[in-house]
Amino acid sequence: MKTTELLASLGLDAATLDGGSLRVRSPIDGSTLACLQPHTPAAADAAITRAAAAFRDWRRVPAPRRGELIRLFGEELRAHKQALGALVTLEAGKISAEGEGEVQEMIDICDFAVGLSRQLYGLTIASERPGHRMMETWHPLGVVGVISAFNFPVAVWSWNFALAIVCGDSVVWKPSEKTPLTALACQKLFERALARFGAAPAGLSEVLIGGVELGEQLVDDARVALLSATGSTRMGRAVGPRVAARFGRALLELGGNNAIIVAPSADLELAVRGILFGAVGTAGQRCTTTRRLIVHASLHDELLARLRRAYASCRVGDPRSSGTLIGPLIDAAAFSAMQSALSAARAEGGEVFGGERVEVIAGAGDAYYVQPALVAMPAQTATVCHETFAPILYVMRYSDFEEAVALHNAVPQGLSSAVFTNDLREAEAFLSAAGSDCGIANVNIGTSGAEIGGAFGGEKETGGGRESGSDAWKSYMRRATNTINYSRELPLAQGIRFGED
Ligand code: NAD
Repeated sequence: MKTTELLASLGLDAATLDGGSLRVRSPIDGSTLACLQPHTPAAADAAITRAAAAFRDWRRVPAPRRGELIRLFGEELRAHKQALGALVTLEAGKISAEGEGEVQEMIDICDFAVGLSRQLYGLTIASERPGHRMMETWHPLGVVGVISAFNFPVAVWSWNFALAIVCGDSVVWKPSEKTPLTALACQKLFERALARFGAAPAGLSEVLIGGVELGEQLVDDARVALLSATGSTRMGRAVGPRVAARFGRALLELGGNNAIIVAPSADLELAVRGILFGAVGTAGQRCTTTRRLIVHASLHDELLARLRRAYASCRVGDPRSSGTLIGPLIDAAAFSAMQSALSAARAEGGEVFGGERVEVIAGAGDAYYVQPALVAMPAQTATVCHETFAPILYVMRYSDFEEAVALHNAVPQGLSSAVFTNDLREAEAFLSAAGSDCGIANVNIGTSGAEIGGAFGGEKETGGGRESGSDAWKSYMRRATNTINYSRELPLAQGIRFGED
């Protein structure tokens, strides 16, 4: 299907995609997909005003009815899964299976949110006072601002959006300036759901097209009750204090530097498959990408040799072609960051296998395809401790399991982690309070490819936020503790007597 036909099938009319100053390029061949008109600060302000007004009405709509809107949105996503997946591939460069997988993740979170719309439960609490009852209620929070990264251009927004809408909030979304078309397509699909839903306030979902300055506007606007920001630790370091300065809430989903420990009892066949998907999938551009391998010394050489063979069999190519496992890096900056990291690793004593640029589409000078790199490192150096958003896997050895866990935790980030072992003691130690310090800790599966049912996020420089499943919905609501006195007395808590004999 031609690009214009694909965009039209998602409700994006070619005429509205031209003439603006924000050039949208495809990492597949560097071609221009659109030139969009960015929002001015005044237009962004008007969008936030609309969202604030929408919230005031939407919070009164019963939650199960709000869930119906997300059910309809999920149906639109099902009907347009292939097209939206293809647009993710075109704009972010993911292979087709992963592009469609991202849309499936959106469908899954919609299903989850529909069920949740009937389960926004609060506790009842035993009161210490006679004739009193205590409970907590969960109320809608307000406008939720979402800032998203290029590498999950739609799924991460949907984790926030589906929950926020059933929780009674409105949403203003500032997608990555590298992937605005998928955001506009999502908005069109949501408008289709709205048309079938019937009356709903205008401004429930707003999309802001533009760069960092629009993100900053969302960050600083006191009407934005929750700012959910996904991206680099650099971005989080700027955003976190600014939201805190106005006493807003921030939910930060930042960089990872995820490791797998491979122990002597590991099923190596399983480990190689898990490592491969984690390290080279999405061309190493997932927050949960496996970036460090901590291997028992007795297995080190064998595992490295097996991985080198497995890497050689992975096809780097056009992400739209079947058989391709590794598509392009997002842009020239990503490529140069990868090359700098490899040079630095070499200088620190690393032995590098792979990492070279590959020409996939003849003449496409502004497209960056690479062989994924394996780097045998003598130690966990400064370069290894840094997240380079590219397919580089640093391989290190250990001799004692406690030493492996210490090495594992000795980086600033804390997103995802895994151990391959068949030793119950090691597995449980890894998951224990003294084990992995990450938000995600796995046994005998890799670091990437999380399901929506669990809460997603990480510790330390990853930002501490949790999104998606479990009780992550609580971030999108405000909690009120209620005490009701149905007696004729007014006893005080802690047995305090005030002005009585
Ligand atoms: P990025 O930080 O460059 O940009 C992310 C978003 O933040 C963009 O929309 C950008 O416009 C905006 N932004 C940047 N600086 C800002 C500022 N000062 N104020 C307001 N907004 C600002 O990240 P990227 O290159 O798009 O994505 C890759 C990074 O995202 C990696 O570090 C990756 O690990 C991380 N990531 C984390 C998760 C997670 O859930 N933890 C998920 C996906 C990606």
